Amino acid sequence: MTSDPPAKLPRAPVAPALCANLPEEWTDLLASWGEPRYRALQVFRWIHKRGVMDPEQMSDLPKSLRARLAEAGLCPPLAVSQVLASQDGTHKLLLQLRDGRSIESVLIPRGSPASEGSYAAQPETGVEAGALPPVTQCISSQVGCAMACTFCASGIAGLKRNLDAGEIIAQVLLGRAQLEGQGRLAGVVLMGMGEPLHNYDAVARVLRLLSHPEGIGMSLRRVTLSTSGLVDGIDRLAKDFGGHVALAVSLHAADDATRSQIMPINKRHPLSELMAALRRYPVPPHRFLTIEYTLIRGINDSMRDAALLARTLRGLRVKVNLIPMNPVAGTALQAPDPATVDAFQEALIAHGLDVFVRRQRGDDIAAACGQLALLGEARKVKNPFAVVE
Ligand code: SF4
Repeated sequence: MTSDPPAKLPRAPVAPALCANLPEEWTDLLASWGEPRYRALQVFRWIHKRGVMDPEQMSDLPKSLRARLAEAGLCPPLAVSQVLASQDGTHKLLLQLRDGRSIESVLIPRGSPASEGSYAAQPETGVEAGALPPVTQCISSQVGCAMACTFCASGIAGLKRNLDAGEIIAQVLLGRAQLEGQGRLAGVVLMGMGEPLHNYDAVARVLRLLSHPEGIGMSLRRVTLSTSGLVDGIDRLAKDFGGHVALAVSLHAADDATRSQIMPINKRHPLSELMAALRRYPVPPHRFLTIEYTLIRGINDSMRDAALLARTLRGLRVKVNLIPMNPVAGTALQAPDPATVDAFQEALIAHGLDVFVRRQRGDDIAAACGQLALLGEARKVKNPFAVVE
C-alpha cells in the first residue's frame, strides 16, 4: 500500500452510468433517438424524484422507449443485500455492485447518539410541522480507499476501484426508499468508504444531481464532504461550489510526525498546506468547518496534543468532533479510556472551541468506516443481481 494515490486509477467497470445523466444530457441523448424534448425531464424525474432506475417500471413512457433505455444500459447499478439495525437507531445498508463488490451506506436518525456532531448541528429551516423525523445518510465514494489511514478498515483494505457517479447517487436513491415513510432524508454526508476528493469528477456530478430541483432537490448546505486533506481537491471544491458544500476534515493529529504516522497523506500535504487550504475555503456566514479527530490511546490523546490542536485551529470557524477509536480488525489501536476523552474535550473547550464527542455509532453492527463491507466480502453475501445477469 502506498502513501500517495496511484497516478492511474482503476476504472469503474459499468459505463455509461445513465442514471447519473443530468437533464440536459438526457435531452441530447433522447433527441439523438428522435424522442421529444419533454421526455428528458420525464426520465430524469423517474430516476431522481421517484427513485426508479428500471425502465420497465417507467409506466408513462412508451414501451419502445423503455426498451431502448434498457438496451442502452439504464438499470439499478447496485442493490441492497443486507440491512442491519443498530440499537442506537442507525441502519447500515450493505450494497452490492454489479461486479460483485460490496460497499456500505448508513442511515443516521437525527437526535440519535450517532448523529452528534457537525452535520446534525447545521440548523434546519422551513420544515413543516408534523414532518417525518430527519435522517442523515452517509454514503461511500470508492470501493476501499487509497489513503491508508492506519485506524480505518477501508484504508487497511486499500483501494479496489472508484465508484462511478451512478453508483454513488443510487446509494441515496435506495437509502431514501429504505426510509419508507418513517423518516425524511434531510442530509447526506460523504463520509463512508473512500476519499471523495480522490474521485472528484464523479463526486462533483453527484453534488449537481443531489441539488437538482427536478430531482432529489437537496440544498448543498445539507451535504457534508469529509476529506483526509487532499489540498487540490479542497481548492477545486471551493471553486466549483463556492463553499456551499459543508467541509469536514479528518485531522486526527496536530503535528506532522504523528499525522504522517497514522495518515500517510500527510507526507504529501503536510499540516501547513492543509491548514492554508482550510483558511482559503469560503465558509459561508454562520457556518463552520468540521474537524474530525479520532482519539487513539497513546498516539494523539495527551494534553499536549489537545493544546497543539487548539493552537493549530486558532482563527478558524470550526467545530471539533472527537471520535474515540472504533475497534477495527487488523489493528491493535484502541480508544482512550472515557476519563481521557473527557479531559481532552474539556481542554479544547477551555481554549474556546466547540467540541462534540461522537459516540461510537452502531458498534453492534460493525459501523466503523468500511467494516461492514469488508465483512460482507468475507461472508460472500448472496449476489442480489444474480437473477438479472
Ligand atoms: S479514514 Fe477516510 S481517507 Fe482514511 S483510509 Fe479511511 S476512508 Fe480513506
